[in-house]
Amino acid sequence: MPKLAINGGNKVRSTKFPAYKPIGKEEFDRVREVFESNIFSRFLGCWHEDFFGGPQVREMEKAWAEFFGTKHAISVNSATSALYCAVGAIDTEPLDEIIVSPYTMSASAVAPLIYNAIPVFAEVEPDCFCLDVKSIEEKITDKTRAIIVVDIFGQPYNPQINDLAQKYNIKIIEDCAQAPYAKQDGKFAGTIGDIGLYSLNYHKHIHSGEGGVLVTNDDELANKLRLIRNHAESVVEAKSETDFVNMIGFNYRMTEIEAAIAHEQLKKLPELINERRKNVNYLENELSKIPCLTMPKVRQGAEHAYYVHSILFDEKVVGVHRNKFIDAVKAELMPIELRETEGIKVSGGYCRPLYLLPMFQQKIAYGKNSYPWSASDRKYDYSKGICPVVEDLYYNKLFIHEYIRPGMKKSDLDDVIAAFTKVWENKDEIRD
Ligand SMILES: *Cc1c(COP(=O)(O)O)cnc(C)c1O
Repeated sequence: MPKLAINGGNKVRSTKFPAYKPIGKEEFDRVREVFESNIFSRFLGCWHEDFFGGPQVREMEKAWAEFFGTKHAISVNSATSALYCAVGAIDTEPLDEIIVSPYTMSASAVAPLIYNAIPVFAEVEPDCFCLDVKSIEEKITDKTRAIIVVDIFGQPYNPQINDLAQKYNIKIIEDCAQAPYAKQDGKFAGTIGDIGLYSLNYHKHIHSGEGGVLVTNDDELANKLRLIRNHAESVVEAKSETDFVNMIGFNYRMTEIEAAIAHEQLKKLPELINERRKNVNYLENELSKIPCLTMPKVRQGAEHAYYVHSILFDEKVVGVHRNKFIDAVKAELMPIELRETEGIKVSGGYCRPLYLLPMFQQKIAYGKNSYPWSASDRKYDYSKGICPVVEDLYYNKLFIHEYIRPGMKKSDLDDVIAAFTKVWENKDEIRD
């Protein structure tokens, strides 16, 4: 009789896992205030007091800046918009190169193209999965304007990248969508680069449905970020700006409702992250006993925010490919309430290396003639094989799971441990 659920045995878990519900009465009460005020947004796209938005937006930004200890916090309608603002604000020129990670959400690698700059992919660290310092240095040229570092899975990027940026006089945009409240050497993630940005989309640690926040200590960058957020072109004249570089504005404005929710969510951030850390700690005490699994490394001086739990898998130890092992684990588990449509939240590989997206493979971004690449006299290589570490992580070595979110009880965590342990103990059933 087979024991593993994938072979027809009984599942470890037959009921759904509890939903992650960080939204409560506090958010509801503040949103009610917005409703009663009848003001859902007070932004004006001209040089006027309301260029900076309504009361909820401004209060949330003030609280955000105080919390993270930055001079400026600028709300936007998504982290994607935040990335686009950031690339514009650093005075990116067409055909500049911006170094990006292939192992992240697509917007952090596509953002340079919005300003006709060229994304150049660097390799990631095999143990921390953030951009690799040595690989970045190899990619730096006289055209390099910036590096978009990503605090992937909740771990801040390697702080040595700041030394590189200083040495070559290039900017750092820190995509902290996955790591609010993480720290490196006592500093909050998001505040380590020149411009940092956070996401408030539904899947992130704290959320307002959709939303994003930019932070910086630089007054000039902050000014440009605010202009790009809100119709720069029709503001600059009355505002007496003399610098018109990248002053095509967008409407990336956050509404009063989202700001109200985000403000309350921010207050809950420490507790929500601490609970994740406790869950990870509990899981790792047991999962680390399974010989084919290596728990995520936490960089020296770092405090991890665990957006997801990223685990390394060693096929040699178990004699089964990761995908087969993970499929067997998934068969033992159940979806998470409210996210049933996403299936079992264990995933082999995270995302496919981004240079393999059709946009890069075919070099089609603007129009059909390969613009902006066709305007450059340099060659840019996006072929399979350019980042072997990332490819090995994606195809063979890494998997992530999301059974770490607040709301998981000990008994829920025990079921996750039991599923992995059961598959390990019955691995002969899935060996070829
Ligand atoms: C979620 C995410 C984004 C995009 O956030 P949105 O607010 O959905 O635009 C960008 N970068 C990373 C690393 C993310 O995880």
